[in-house]
Amino acid sequence: MLHDNTKARLADFDDRKEELTAIRHYLHQNPELSHKEEKTARFVADKLKSWGYDVTENVGGYGVVAVLSNGTSKRGIAIRADMDALPIREETGLDHASANDGVMHACGHDGHTTILLGAAEYLARTRRFDGTLTLIFQPAEEAGTTSGAQKMIEDGLLERFPFDMIFGLHNHPGAPEGQILLREGPLMAAADTVEVLVKGRGGHASRPHLTVDPLVTACHMVVALQMVVSRFTDPTQTAVVTVGTIHAGEAVNVIPETARFAITVRSFDEDVRANLETRIRQMIASVAAGHGAVAEVDYQRGHPVVFNAAEPTALARSVAEELVGEDNVGTCNLIPGSEDFSHYLEFRPGCFVRLGNGVDSAVLHSSKFDFADESLTVGAALWARLAERFLEEDAG
Ligand SMILES: [Zn+2]
Ligand SMILES: [Zn+2]
Repeated sequence: MLHDNTKARLADFDDRKEELTAIRHYLHQNPELSHKEEKTARFVADKLKSWGYDVTENVGGYGVVAVLSNGTSKRGIAIRADMDALPIREETGLDHASANDGVMHACGHDGHTTILLGAAEYLARTRRFDGTLTLIFQPAEEAGTTSGAQKMIEDGLLERFPFDMIFGLHNHPGAPEGQILLREGPLMAAADTVEVLVKGRGGHASRPHLTVDPLVTACHMVVALQMVVSRFTDPTQTAVVTVGTIHAGEAVNVIPETARFAITVRSFDEDVRANLETRIRQMIASVAAGHGAVAEVDYQRGHPVVFNAAEPTALARSVAEELVGEDNVGTCNLIPGSEDFSHYLEFRPGCFVRLGNGVDSAVLHSSKFDFADESLTVGAALWARLAERFLEEDAG
């Protein structure tokens, strides 16, 4: 068979393995927290500039956007990698362990960034595409309601750097290295946080009839909230309502004035999500009323559902099968964690891909976690070939 050098193949990245591993280890050794990725962003921007990209820095914080156009097509694809690390003290004992004490790439964003750099170098060198390539190196994925995707969108990302479709990936502990997992439709959960302040009337613990006990009220609320999923959510749907904290009282002989608790709410469907909010608010209000107390509810909407559209997911699956074979492409189960990539998907169709990090990999956010270097070239080849396929030169 003739050597096919007209498209990106996995083998094209074989001789890049060492270089990509070195980049990944450098990033792993020099982790930076959300909103503080100054050096990481500069490192990324310098490389992209050296390969001929039109680079814009400081987009929504330390975000870096690299654009490369080729040919005449108006089509555009965006690929995003996240760059931030976590406030965790690394315990891997590896040679390339964090040199920044108390900060660690425990979610593998060092790997995601390296993969996109690998694809960037390849695509700039080969230029077998017709259209515009937009590479988004995003800060602060781990930052909750002030996360990088939201900040970059607020800073005009979609208007300043137009694209038709967007892709991103996350490593996946538990799946073999290099395996690619996909799921059309909902993949990762919407995550909302609810803070509840129960106001009663404090007094002497021996005379409860003269008080409104916020502690007992809050306890009833916690129990009542267990009904929100079991009795008020469609059983064919999935949701989680977990009360993660509760605080009330200082002394055994005092009924306190207030009690506080906080809830995390996870769902995979916008209607379910809206219903959960309605039911949680109703439940808290009615239990408060029954106890003669008042409850203040601060309902904070977090990241929406990561929803993979049909067309980009089919494209990603086809490219994945082309690169690693059908046997190494699987269907991903629903993941109750959340991801700020979902914000891009509210504006553009796209697909979030999961890439195996090894069956024995430590879990994400563990002090023992490390990104699997074996997956670097698979990820880079996936992005390179995906860009070529979406921006096919003879597509017209
Ligand atoms: Zn994470
Ligand atoms: Zn992550």
